[in-house]
Amino acid sequence: MGRIIGLKCVRCGKIYGTELGPKAFEGCPVCAQEGQPANLSTVYDYSGLNADDLVRAFSQRPRTMWRYIEMLPADNVDEVVSLHEGCTPLMRLHKLEEEYGIGRLYIKDESRNPTGSFKDRLASCAVTRGLKTGARVITVSSTGNHGSSTAAYATRADLDCIVFTMDSVPLMMKVLMQVYGGKLVACKNGPDRWKLMAWGVREKGWYPLGNYVNPPVGSNPYGVDGYKSMALEICEDLGWKVPDVVIQPTAYGDGLYGMWKGFAEMKQLGIIDSTPRMYAAEVFGPLCNALAKGGKLEPVAAGPSVAFSIASPFGTHQALRALVDSRGGAISVSDEEILAVQERLGKHGLYAEASSCASVAAAIRLAKKGVIGKSDTVVAVITATGQRDPWVTQSRLPAVPVVEPDPDHLSDVLKTTYGFVV
Ligand SMILES: [Zn+2]
Repeated sequence: MGRIIGLKCVRCGKIYGTELGPKAFEGCPVCAQEGQPANLSTVYDYSGLNADDLVRAFSQRPRTMWRYIEMLPADNVDEVVSLHEGCTPLMRLHKLEEEYGIGRLYIKDESRNPTGSFKDRLASCAVTRGLKTGARVITVSSTGNHGSSTAAYATRADLDCIVFTMDSVPLMMKVLMQVYGGKLVACKNGPDRWKLMAWGVREKGWYPLGNYVNPPVGSNPYGVDGYKSMALEICEDLGWKVPDVVIQPTAYGDGLYGMWKGFAEMKQLGIIDSTPRMYAAEVFGPLCNALAKGGKLEPVAAGPSVAFSIASPFGTHQALRALVDSRGGAISVSDEEILAVQERLGKHGLYAEASSCASVAAAIRLAKKGVIGKSDTVVAVITATGQRDPWVTQSRLPAVPVVEPDPDHLSDVLKTTYGFVV
């Protein structure tokens, strides 16, 4: 088994043992003092592990993300809080490859996870860790996916779960966060949620799954480790080959950094011999801005967006670390590009959340700019199902016509609404 031997700052590299206690969820104290709050990340002792033995063992286990347990924060499967997350499909988009001149374009469909989003990987790992370290109450602040996933896993572990959201999130998101057992409360803005969550963590000992410091650092480091499994699955599905480019819809960079860490640790273990370039697909572009300014993170102007799950004015140091170390980059895409992709993916049999579509929209941009081309294998992560927010999609679809029980009327309606001639 891989063993966690400490936590390392993603910005300055300082390594901590257990001395920070619950403060570890607030990032590196040294970097916070410098005004550059940065997340901590787990460090594993992989000595004694052999790449060939690991790959053989992985392939013989049940198809959940816990088949990679040596690289995840648990010692044995019996202690894992699971709803059968992971092992989501990698699917090619042949028509888009042809249209934009991309060698191989895959989507990794994370909508197939138990609660419909990639957050289940984080929640499974973090709740498992929380349970093991004595947590009684789990807490998170979320616009939906993270909250519903957290509630589902906390309930699965028989723990109470307090979820902070914003009143502006769609009804379906609120329903999901409550139906899985979350005690849901809405605040007027993001920072208010973090303030109340910080009180719960510091004063009441609640166990946090997500960020609650301002400016944000990212989520619970043990939870972020769950995203390593996406990198492992991608490589396993490609016959232990490495894609050239991986694109992740990004706000605070938990998924982006976790996946990057997965690739980097596979290389460290000798499972793969290269790593992909990581790209962040974002809306308002805090990471684009930071990369243009030599790594200086600052909030950017933000407003409403159809991609509300990633519509953040803040970037994080963990996201920057993944982009810089992998020699990747960030692409800021518009609502219009996102919704065009959502419509397009529908015709590939996939209904993806608007935020998720940012990854494919970014792939199209990279192809148009010539950054990716005929020789590249590209993976765009679809982070969640579109069933969260049908209203935004409905605005681009024709109103459903009502027909009389008359074949002539049906023929007229099909022609006028859909251009289909019977
Ligand atoms: Zn630091």
